[in-house]
Amino acid sequence: MGDDRSAYQPFALPGARPHYGPDKLVAVEEIALDLVPDLERESLDGCCTTTVRAFDQPVTRLSLDAVDLDVSSVERVEPGAAPRGVGFVVRDGKLDVTFDPPIAPGERATFAVRYRVVRPRYGLFFVRPTASHPEKIAHAWTQSQDEFARYWFPCLDYPHEKQRSTTTITAPKGTFALGNGALVERAERDGKTVFKYRQDVPHSTYLMTMVAGPFVEVAQGNAGRNGVPVFYYVLPGRERDGERAFGKTPQMIACFEERTGMPYPYARYSQIAVSDFIFGGMENTSATTQTDRTLHDETAHLDFSSDPLVAHELAHQWFGDLLTCRDWSHAWLNEGFATFMEAVWREADLGYDEYVYDVFECLSIYLKEEAHRYVRPIVCNTYIAPIEIFDRHLYQKGAAVLHMLRGELGDARFWRSVARYVRENAQRSVETIDFIRAIEGETGRNLRGFFAQWVFREGHPALEIRYAWDATRNVATVTIDQKQPVEAQHPVYEFDVELAFAPKPDSIEGERRIRAHVGRAHETIAVPLEFEPRLVRFDPGAFLLADVTYALGPDLAAAVLLGDPNVVARIRAARELAKDSGRTAREALERAFASEHFWGVLAEAAHAVGASRSPWGRDLLIGALAHTHPKVVRAAADALGNFRDDDVASALEATSRDARSYFVRAAALVSLGKTRAARAFEVLTAAARARTWNSVVEAGALRGLAELADAKAMPLLLEASAPAKQEGTRRAAVASLARLASLVESERTRAVDAIERLLDDESFLVALDAIAAAESLGDERLLTGLDRVAGQGIDGRIRRHAMEAAMRIRKGAKVPSQVTALRDDIDELREQQRRLQEKIEALARP
Ligand SMILES: [Zn+2]
Repeated sequence: MGDDRSAYQPFALPGARPHYGPDKLVAVEEIALDLVPDLERESLDGCCTTTVRAFDQPVTRLSLDAVDLDVSSVERVEPGAAPRGVGFVVRDGKLDVTFDPPIAPGERATFAVRYRVVRPRYGLFFVRPTASHPEKIAHAWTQSQDEFARYWFPCLDYPHEKQRSTTTITAPKGTFALGNGALVERAERDGKTVFKYRQDVPHSTYLMTMVAGPFVEVAQGNAGRNGVPVFYYVLPGRERDGERAFGKTPQMIACFEERTGMPYPYARYSQIAVSDFIFGGMENTSATTQTDRTLHDETAHLDFSSDPLVAHELAHQWFGDLLTCRDWSHAWLNEGFATFMEAVWREADLGYDEYVYDVFECLSIYLKEEAHRYVRPIVCNTYIAPIEIFDRHLYQKGAAVLHMLRGELGDARFWRSVARYVRENAQRSVETIDFIRAIEGETGRNLRGFFAQWVFREGHPALEIRYAWDATRNVATVTIDQKQPVEAQHPVYEFDVELAFAPKPDSIEGERRIRAHVGRAHETIAVPLEFEPRLVRFDPGAFLLADVTYALGPDLAAAVLLGDPNVVARIRAARELAKDSGRTAREALERAFASEHFWGVLAEAAHAVGASRSPWGRDLLIGALAHTHPKVVRAAADALGNFRDDDVASALEATSRDARSYFVRAAALVSLGKTRAARAFEVLTAAARARTWNSVVEAGALRGLAELADAKAMPLLLEASAPAKQEGTRRAAVASLARLASLVESERTRAVDAIERLLDDESFLVALDAIAAAESLGDERLLTGLDRVAGQGIDGRIRRHAMEAAMRIRKGAKVPSQVTALRDDIDELREQQRRLQEKIEALARP
């Protein structure tokens, strides 16, 4: 599904409406939580004491957010007076508290709410050993973003509200509990351990946290200018995995302090790794919750790193926690920045190539969402649930905008502007205009037009770049065509771009750079030169947020692939060359595979070469399986899935057996399945029984089994989807069920039944994958289940994906079901064409 969609698919689903933050009757000054979690009974006894100050009107009634809280009393707490019960009503997710006499304008009031939470639906999660997973260790964690704090304490649950907080947690003796801010007390009391945390810098309710369980504390020393103590917490036995995952945190703190110009703002920094987490990480102020899936062994560490996740959540301590989006529509100021800072850390740690490739990956991820799902402005307030906008536009496109801004302003002015933005808005709520004003204040640049085009408007330019040299007049011509649909709502993009011309193909020595303005759908830039350029560079810093395709011709593309210092240019050249079957192109790619020093270029080149399905490409990729970088090998193994022949199967089988990297083995197994070689079934069945970190290898084997298009894999996939299996295994099984059923019509009903059941799975990620599987299978029998989940699912992401899947299935239902079969025929014909081409080449050889 999804190939036949029109351009500019709208984001808003039926029922979406514009959202604005609520009015304020009061400012909340402080929240004090007194919490007693019961890990056995999955309950929480709480007392929430809130201090508010009335705005300019007397307040007789305050309506707090509170869902499924069993409230037993509300008392007014006055200094020097006995607590006094006040009236309250609980209904429809609200706790209405009555003040008699009213709180006078400008006056303070403090009130305490006693409540109990039993087996909460959301916000507070209990992990317990179960019949199918007896290995699980009991603990509890909260997840308050975006508006779920109300499931575990009564509050004004909106990001613009910022207050100080105190969190006192009474935990079973010998266990640990984490809250926000400084640990001010740790005491044994009545056979229990009491932890008291104090957060003096005001923060939003969605950043408040409580985690409790038998965690092991690992101190990482002091970091940054103020020597802030850094810790991580893992469940017993995971200490060394924790070091691998979180070991670089102190260096990251120093790096981000330097970049933002602002010392780490809180009393301590902790990361705590919990089970069954529904996100990668959550940047709770000073106390990040991380998924325990990120804890990894030495083998995984070959080509997996937790650094992006760790950097992301740490960056939020500035962008999100200290400066908080005023409402969710501006959440890119949280997520775009945090994603961008992942790349910034990569630059500091591994160098500029890694940075620029990270941003390029962000751009690719955003482009995929735009092509397959929808398009929306980065700032957008029309949704059903706020979590819907936490998508690839918010994170990855947001990061790509910041990179482009870095190019627009230049390094020094960019970072000075960021520092000013942080300094001027610390402890405040921010909207995009605050950032624009900080840039203007620092540099004098008025970037309202830039933000209008890239942040407040949807879409991006799709550019095709051509080049010609006029030898009679000594003029180089670069043509830039905007290929995206241009219409009244989506006018042509306007931007400045650099072009560079160098006299030698393998060096930028003597390079001539110009800055050109692009403002038309078909832009021709003619540059008189005193030499014929041998290397031509479009946007040499790779700053532009655009889907760029080169059509430079093989000679120039080869020069760029082998000589351009920017990895993004080399990738674009490789993509152009991979579509070309001529000798210049082949030789350039072969040389690149022998000499290219950056793995990302070869990984992208491998994918492009694979997509070409050419015989020489196959040989090149088989050769790349011997590359020293596991991510190049992974890409080559993946790309070999385009070839269905015996040499490929043998090479993949060997790689799946001999490689050390889990990810390489998994990629080889998937592609081995795609070859449909006779011996693959046995290899894949054996690999599906492996026991590797996060089931990476097992998952590859299951996906490979589906690709075999053989009904005998069905029982294995069904078994692997059972609740007793590891989550990673189950997730791969769900996707594989749909894949196999789309290849083997006779298995469709069994797959539909299994996917239908999994739509309501206890595991959030499995349920999400089941929705994706339902969509890819496109079977109308799944509509009832999808509609149910879209209406009743508690998580906004589940509801949104189910709704989208159901819409696409309904739309696609008109297309006959033979489409899948026809697509397979096309694959088969391509394969025949490839073999014939091979024969022709063999005959043509002298
Ligand atoms: Zn984030």
